[in-house]
This record gives sequence, structure tokens and C-alpha cells, in this order.
Amino acid sequence: MAYDFDLFVIGAGSGGVRAARIAAGHGARVAIAEEYRYGGTCVIRGCVPKKLFVYASHFAEDFEDAAAYGWTVPRPSFDWPTLVTNKDREIDRLNGIYIKLLEGAGVRRFDGRAVLRDGQTVEVAGQTFGAERILIATGGAPSMPEIPGIEHAISSNEAFHLEHLPEHITVVGGGYIAVEFAGIFHGLGCRVTQLYRRDQILRGFDWDVRTHLGAELLKKGIDLRFEANVTAVEPRGDGYRLTLTDGASLDTGLVMYGTGRHPNTADMGLERAGVELDENGAVVVDDWSQTSAGNIHAVGDVTNRVNLTPVAIMEGHAYADTVFGGTPRRPDHRDVPAAVFSQPGVGTVGLTEQEARQRHDVIDIYKSTFRPMKHTLSGRDEQSLMKLIVDAATDRVVGCHVVGPDAAEIVQGIGIALKCNATKAQFDATVGIHPTAAEELVTMRTKWTPPEAQAAE
Ligand code: NDP
Repeated sequence: MAYDFDLFVIGAGSGGVRAARIAAGHGARVAIAEEYRYGGTCVIRGCVPKKLFVYASHFAEDFEDAAAYGWTVPRPSFDWPTLVTNKDREIDRLNGIYIKLLEGAGVRRFDGRAVLRDGQTVEVAGQTFGAERILIATGGAPSMPEIPGIEHAISSNEAFHLEHLPEHITVVGGGYIAVEFAGIFHGLGCRVTQLYRRDQILRGFDWDVRTHLGAELLKKGIDLRFEANVTAVEPRGDGYRLTLTDGASLDTGLVMYGTGRHPNTADMGLERAGVELDENGAVVVDDWSQTSAGNIHAVGDVTNRVNLTPVAIMEGHAYADTVFGGTPRRPDHRDVPAAVFSQPGVGTVGLTEQEARQRHDVIDIYKSTFRPMKHTLSGRDEQSLMKLIVDAATDRVVGCHVVGPDAAEIVQGIGIALKCNATKAQFDATVGIHPTAAEELVTMRTKWTPPEAQAAE
């Protein structure tokens, strides 16, 4: 059978675009369909605009800190529409770059929602195409709990386009998005209440990171409440009245949910094409990103593996090299470095202390908390945390966790060291760069002893 395309990619986000370009580079006839804008969540309403907002937000502290360095800063004022306009201009530019990259690679674009008619037929924009292979790269979308009045709440999608900032905002959730946006809104001048349903934010991260960051957010003035959730939202005056799990109510100007995301797999004809989904609606794939329908693969958040842009890119690239490039390789999901762009930020790679204790007989912990040098003059009461986890049997560093300025930048390099199976002795043999915060990671020599062990000594 003659197909219209060797590969039809559905979804032009990070994973889909990478796979389409690389496959086309290997000589495949490739099409891609996108129903919204090119670049996907990360570029359009995720990592990129979020990071621009984090920069904007952090100026609040920078202006304050400048005084101790001799600067006289007139009382700064902030204009939200200017930030949104400038951010939108940058997103437009990136959307255009993605389109150019695809066109330059010879990929045919179809603007519209694609649906599978069967395992090798894609319908998009009123046309039907035969494709030998199909790649599902449709990403995910925000999930919100079904509580009365939830239609009044916004998700991160809408947060990027607010007409104006409320005086008070309530952020629900304790994961990446909630923590990042609580910091953004706080820096931009809103009063922020953050509600998290359990005992400490960032579940799944190292416990020291969680408690350290939680304490820093409280110090900054974010009204971070634990064991707290919303049971109903109702409009009240200019804002909303939230009913909380303890029965109390909270009046707020706006409520934003950062309560997880779900894979975009509904109404796409996946079942018709024989693609198995799990109980969360994610496409089930094997180590090669292959679905239960042999010619259909899936990459990125739609597979709900490690939901990070660079991971989707790795998966898309590996897929294209394997299927069209004659160089089979599986994406490697071990030791993926990650960051939370909270303020202060978090960078992490490898095992948490809790995971390391389960996997290794004996581990050594090295950790240090200190005031960043910049704040010795500014006087700001902010502490950084550096932590290394070492498998005592092999001396290998199996985890690194940083909270503080530039945490993400620092941990990217440490990620390479972990990929190389670096030992603590090799960390120690590395000369620090002085004066930096990062040098702490190569100068910590004293093993941390748990307080109970200290008491027994
Ligand atoms: P996360 O899974 O990180 O966090 C969801 C949070 O919402 C958790 O604190 C969870 O609590 C809470 N929650 C879930 N359901 C409810 C509910 N019904 N009521 C109240 N709270 C609830 O999801 P995010 O939305 O923050 O982010 C989605 C994904 O996007 C992340 O997992 C990450 O992969 C990616 N991302 C990455 C970023 C980065 O790399 N910097 C930035 C932003 C997103 P509990 O802990 O109890 O489950």
C-alpha cells in the first residue's frame, strides 16, 4: 500500500517537533498536525513564559537588595500588561521559529485537530491521509478536582493571560506549578495564600529540600498552609469565597489550581486504532516508546513517564533515530536532573535520601545550609541548602539536591557527574570556584550524623 507519509506526528510540542525534524532529516516523508500553536506546552504556556515571569517577579527582591550595595532605587512600580505583552511577543517569536524549523526540515504542517480513523489513517482539517507510522505527542492539560464552583478557578493556562493581577490570590496545590506560581505572584506584589492538602510541599522530592523550601516560602510572606484544601468556590463581590476543608472560609481575588495534569488522549480515535491507555488515560508504551499498536509510538507527557520537556525531546529523538535512522536507542530515564523555579529555586538529580536508604545498605549524607554571599550585605534572611547522598559501598554520589539562587544551573553540571558515576572522592578532588555557592558541593567533608546518632555518641 502506498502511504501519503512515512510518519504522521500528532502534536507539535517539544517531543513531536524533535521527532518530526529528525525523522525528516533521515529521509522520511513526514507530516505534523497541531491544533493550537507550535512549540507545545513548554514554549506556549509552560516553561518559557513561566521562567520569564520568574525573572520579572524576582526584580522585587533585587531592587530591595540593591540598597545595601550603595544604589538608590526610586520606589519601583510594576506594570503587568507590559510584562504580558512582552512575554507574548517572545512566545510569538518562538512559535514562528518552530514553524520555520519544521518547514526547513521539509515537514508538512497541518493546522487542526487530528483524529485517527484507523491505525494508519489520520484525518485533519477535513482531509484524510494514509501514514505508515504515527507518533502521538499530544502532551497534557491541567487537571482540576470536581468541586462546586470549580469553573470559577483558573489553571496555569489562564494565569499567563490575566487582564490584571488580583490584590490577593489563592494557589491550590503543592507541586511544581503551584510552588512556582505562588512565588511569581508574591514577587509581583500580590498577597498569596497557598493551600496544600498534606504535610509538606513537593511530595516526591528530598525531605530536606521540601522542609527547607517550605520554611523559605513562609519567611518570604507566602501564607503557605498545610493540610488545607478547598471544598467549594463561590463568587463573592469582586472575588471569590472559598470554603476550606476545616469548614473555615477564605475570601480571595482569584483562585488558581496547580493540581496536576492529565494526558491529552480523549476523542482522538486511539482506541479505534488499537492503542492501549492506562487508568489515567496515558498512552501505554514500552522502552522504545512503542504502543500496543505496533506502528504507533508515543512520546512526551501523553505517556506520563517523566513529564519534562527535555525528556520528551530525548524520547522523540531516540524514536526518530531508531525507526528512521538505523541507530536504535532507548531513551534513558535514569538520573534525569530537574528544577523547580521557585524562589529560591530547587535543583535536583538522582535519589532522594529516602530512596537511597531503600536501595543502598549504607549511605553517607553531606549537607550544608548557609546564607548566600549576596545576602551578607543585603541582610536578606534567605538560606541555601546543598546536599549530597553517597552510596558508602561504592563511594558513588547517587543524589544531589540544591535549594538556592541558580540551583538549576548548578545541578545541570552535577547531572553530568552522576551520569559518569562520579564518586565522592572525585567530587573532593575537584577544585572549587571561589567564591561561589556551588563550591560547597566539592568542599563538604564532614558526614552528616542524624541527631539521634549524635545523642548516642
Ligand atoms: P504535580 O503533580 O507536580 O503537583 C500536583 C499538586 O497538586 C500536588 O501537590 C498534589 O498533591 C496536588 N493535588 C492533586 N490533586 C489535588 C486535589 N484534588 N486537591 C488538592 N490538591 C491536589 O503537578 P503540577 O500541576 O504542579 O505540574 C504538572 C507536571 O508538570 C509536573 O509533574 C511536572 O512534571 C511538570 N512541570 C515541570 C516544571 C519544571 O520542570 N520546573 C514546572 C511545571 C510543571 P499530592 O502531593 O497530595 O498529590
